[in-house]
Amino acid sequence: MTARHSVNTRSDIAVIGAGVIGASIAAELAARGAHVTVFDRGELGGGATAEGMGHLLFLADSPAQFELIGRSMELWGRLLPDLPPGCEVDKCGTLWLAADDEDLATAHEKTAGLRRFGVEAEVVDAAQLRQIEPELAHDLLGAMRVPEDAVVYPPRVVSYWLNESPAANRITVRAHETVEELGSTSGSGTATGSDVVASGGQRRARGGSAPRLRTAGGDWETYSAIIVASGVGTAKLLPEVGIQPRKGHLAITDRYPGFLRHQVVELAYVKNTHMGEGDSVSMNVQPRSTGQVLIGSCRQFAGLDRSVDPGITKRMIDQAIRYVPSIRTLQILRIWTGFRPASPDDRPWIGAIPGRPGVFIASGHEGLGITSAMGTAELLTDIVMNAQPRISNELYDPATRLVGAEKA
Ligand SMILES: Cc1cc2nc3c(=O)[nH]c(=O)nc-3n(C[C@H](O)[C@H](O)[C@H](O)COP(=O)(O)OP(=O)(O)OC[C@H]3O[C@@H](n4cnc5c(N)ncnc54)[C@H](O)[C@@H]3O)c2cc1C
Repeated sequence: MTARHSVNTRSDIAVIGAGVIGASIAAELAARGAHVTVFDRGELGGGATAEGMGHLLFLADSPAQFELIGRSMELWGRLLPDLPPGCEVDKCGTLWLAADDEDLATAHEKTAGLRRFGVEAEVVDAAQLRQIEPELAHDLLGAMRVPEDAVVYPPRVVSYWLNESPAANRITVRAHETVEELGSTSGSGTATGSDVVASGGQRRARGGSAPRLRTAGGDWETYSAIIVASGVGTAKLLPEVGIQPRKGHLAITDRYPGFLRHQVVELAYVKNTHMGEGDSVSMNVQPRSTGQVLIGSCRQFAGLDRSVDPGITKRMIDQAIRYVPSIRTLQILRIWTGFRPASPDDRPWIGAIPGRPGVFIASGHEGLGITSAMGTAELLTDIVMNAQPRISNELYDPATRLVGAEKA
C-alpha cells in the first residue's frame, strides 16, 4: 500500500531527471493541472533515453508484466499520430525470429499469449519470412510477427513532452542543474498541499514535513512532491533502491533504405535478458527511418565504464550476421555504449519511498523504459495525486518491496 499523500495541483512538483520517464511524468502531471519543475544535470533526454533503440514493443510473459506494458502501448498508440516528424515514428512491427524447433514452439506460445490480451500477433512460416524480409538467413524456421510494435526517436519525444505537449506551459525545465541531495523540512508527518505555499516562485512549508532538494551550489528548495526519475543517477539520490547500471553496446550503419522493414529480434532475447549477473548477447536489429540500421544488443554489469568492449562488440555483430548475413557488407559508422537503470529484481520502482514523506520514485525500467514510460507516468501521477490508479502498482511499490527486503 502506498502512503496517503495529498498534492495541491497549484503547487510545484519537482521531477529529477529529464529522460523518457521524467519527461513523460512531467507531461502527465501538467496535463492534470500541476505546475512541474524538471531538473536535469545534462541535456534533455541525454541519458539512457538517447543511448537506446527506441523500440516500443508488446510483451506478455505474465499478466502482471502485460498490465504496465499493455497500458503503455495503448497510450503510445494514441500519442504516435500526434508526434512531430523529428520523433521518427515508424510502425514497422517486430519479427521475433525462430532459429530452431524450440524457438518455433516459443513463437506459437508467445503468439497465443499476446492474442489472449487482444494484441494482434501471428506466426509466419519460413517461406513467408523470406518473402517479407529477404535479407534474413534462409535457415530460419519462422517468426512471430507483432505488427503493432513501433519505433520512435526517444530524445525528440522527450523534447516534445517538455516543450510542445498540450500543457507544456506548466512545465519549467532547469537543464544543467544537478540535484545533489534530498531532504525534508523539519517537523513530522506527510506534507500536504495546504502545507506548501508559493513564495516568490519557490515553495515554503507552513508546518509538517515537506520534501526538499538542494542543487549543486544552490539553496534548499521545498516542493509539495519530489519525483526521482534519474535513471542510473537514482543510485546516488535514493541508495536504498539499489539501482545499478546495466551496460549495453549499439552499432549504427550508413544509410541503406529498405534493407529491413521490421525490427528483427531473436526469440531467445527475453530469456537472455534475465540471465543474471553474466554478460549476455542477443540479436536485435532495427531499421531506422533514416535508412540506417541499428545493431544490438548486449548486457553487462560493468559499472559506469563507457569504453567500447571489442570482445562483446564482436560477439554482438557476429550474432547479428547469424540472423541477417548481409549485415557483414554494411558500413558501420559508430559504436557506443549506454546504461540501462536496473533494479535488483528486474522490476521498475514506481511509487512513494517509505520514510521520505513526499518523495516518489519512477526508475529501474532497465531495457523497457521507452516502452513502459507512458503507463509509468499515468500510474505515478495517479499515486501522487491520490487518484484511483488505473493499473495496480503492487509489483512496483517501494513500500512493500523495501519493507519486505528489510524483514527478510
Ligand atoms: C543499449 C540500450 C538499448 C535500449 N533499447 C530500448 C528499447 O529498444 N526499448 C525500450 O523500451 N527501452 C530501451 N532501452 C532502455 C531505455 O533506454 C531506458 O529504460 C530508459 O531510457 C530509462 O529512462 P530514464 O528516464 O529512467 O533514464 P535516463 O534516460 O537515463 O534519464 C535520467 C536523467 O536523469 C538525469 N539525472 C541523473 N541524476 C541526476 C541528478 N542528481 N540531478 C539532475 N539530473 C539527474 C540524467 O542526466 C538523465 O537525463 C535501452 C537502453 C540501452 C542502454
